[in-house]
Amino acid sequence: MTTTTTHEGESLYAAARSQFLKAAEVMNLDPAVRQILEHPKNEICVNFPVRMDNGEIRVFRGYRIQHSNILGPYKGGIRYAPEVNLDEVKALAAWMTFKTALAGLPYGGAKGGITCKPSEMSLDEQMRLTRRFTHALGSNIGPDSDIPAPDIGTNSRHMVWMFDTFANSHGGSDRNRAKALVTGKSLACGGSEGREKATGQGVCYIIERWATNAGLKPSSLSVAVQGFGNVGYHAALIASEMGMKVVAVHDHTGCVANAAGLDVQALKKHQDATRTLNGFSGGETIAPESFWDQACDVLVPAAIENQLTSARARRIKAKVVVEGANGPTTREADVVLAERGITVIPDILANSGGVIVSFFEWLQNRNCEHWELETVDARLLDLITKAYDKTLDRAKRYKTDVRTGAYVVALERIAQAYAERGIFP
Ligand code: NAD
Repeated sequence: MTTTTTHEGESLYAAARSQFLKAAEVMNLDPAVRQILEHPKNEICVNFPVRMDNGEIRVFRGYRIQHSNILGPYKGGIRYAPEVNLDEVKALAAWMTFKTALAGLPYGGAKGGITCKPSEMSLDEQMRLTRRFTHALGSNIGPDSDIPAPDIGTNSRHMVWMFDTFANSHGGSDRNRAKALVTGKSLACGGSEGREKATGQGVCYIIERWATNAGLKPSSLSVAVQGFGNVGYHAALIASEMGMKVVAVHDHTGCVANAAGLDVQALKKHQDATRTLNGFSGGETIAPESFWDQACDVLVPAAIENQLTSARARRIKAKVVVEGANGPTTREADVVLAERGITVIPDILANSGGVIVSFFEWLQNRNCEHWELETVDARLLDLITKAYDKTLDRAKRYKTDVRTGAYVVALERIAQAYAERGIFP
């Protein structure tokens, strides 16, 4: 079995488990709840054939890991990438359980994915892959049971194919309900205002809150962002709109820096036109590894897991790390950052804007409503700020780090539900 190991040799699921176990220890969590949450409830693995454009048939492997539904339907993204494997999806599913609980949403946690290389597949091939995967998952997903969303390698187009497939295979009165099967859809097909930028927006609300608490003006901050996809691009753009200087951006194609601040929109245009960040005239192209040495106040890792290793953690100049990606910081790096007095605002809080606005999309679909962008942003700010403040409160109360504080808030909610409901039968 393939396993995602951190640069420091640990499996991703082991890393995720260790974060939750630390909080369980700190708060003296009921051992029964601890035992239940140590394993996903369901591990669904499907192998299914897809016809490629050249007429060949290829069999793909897809996963849907349903970690917990004690607080509500399973909720979590679908990832298309060559590295997708059971261990990685299990870790991502567990993080969703804690993220939705921390945000106070009526959801559990899940994650899915297909091991594939979307960049080498045509849109038609991706459509057949997505429809066949949705069919293979069958009634394991549904608007009241398990609600997927986009993640790396997927976007609103894939979500629309998913719900259309579901609508066509679950006929009758269920057809109209099918929109609420997935979130992150296009506006024309039932998506929400503000969903596309929601994760980046949430990252920036968190940076603002952190700055205000630290007695700093958000507009005085410099930010370095790794990843220039959905999360990284919107985080960089919104940060610059808030008056922050985006001093470095790094993605899988390269890295550019400008101490005076990059023009984020111009950089996006350059990337769209050339398929690389390198060579952007509004900044200096630097070696990707130098990204970690750039002077900045805020570091936003918003690419993939395990990027902030202990070696890089020793070099970074930031005062705070705001985790836009899931699992970007290794366990060893967390220790180094704590020793250096650098605050880490953890993924389950920092990137929760996406799932919060997904919840708003789901509510709008179910109630046949349309909310204006101002309403979406205001409600997002309210929920993410409450989660942030509770997190800091628990970190202080238990004299622990911010990551553990966030897990404590999530676990309190989950433990309360188990205490009242008990274990069936
Ligand atoms: P995306 O596919 O849109 O973008 C990923 C970015 O990471 C790209 O810019 C890519 O170039 C970069 N990248 C990939 N490998 C890299 C490497 N080795 N070095 C540097 N950069 C690299 O994906 P996304 O939706 O922006 O997701 C990014 C992260 O945020 C993931 O961890 C995802 O799980 C998490 N996340 C996403 C959402 C969401 O709403 N999309 C919500 C919460 C969390």
